[in-house]
Amino acid sequence: MSYKINEECTSCGACEPECPNAAISQGDTTYLINSALCSECVGLHDTPQCAVTCPTEACVADPSKKETEAELLEKTKKAHPDKNFSGSFPSHFRK
Ligand code: SF4
Repeated sequence: MSYKINEECTSCGACEPECPNAAISQGDTTYLINSALCSECVGLHDTPQCAVTCPTEACVADPSKKETEAELLEKTKKAHPDKNFSGSFPSHFRK
């Protein structure tokens, strides 16, 4: 389940530099999350960083894009080929 940015977005841009997967970009009226790149920050943080950063709580889980923790970790690995994710890793599934 990737995250999405809803209509509460004020286009402040705070989330964009916080996304470790470079999944966020500016759209016409709101910022947007590329669901192919979003891994819910699994493997890197125990909380999705866009949601932590957003001042209007516009970054929310997209229930139409459900993925398992393993699937999300694969997306993070793809975005960070130089990192080693063996052993324990942060994940909001484990909080
Ligand atoms: Fe980027 Fe993490 Fe937000 Fe997904 S949940 S858009 S990977 S900051």
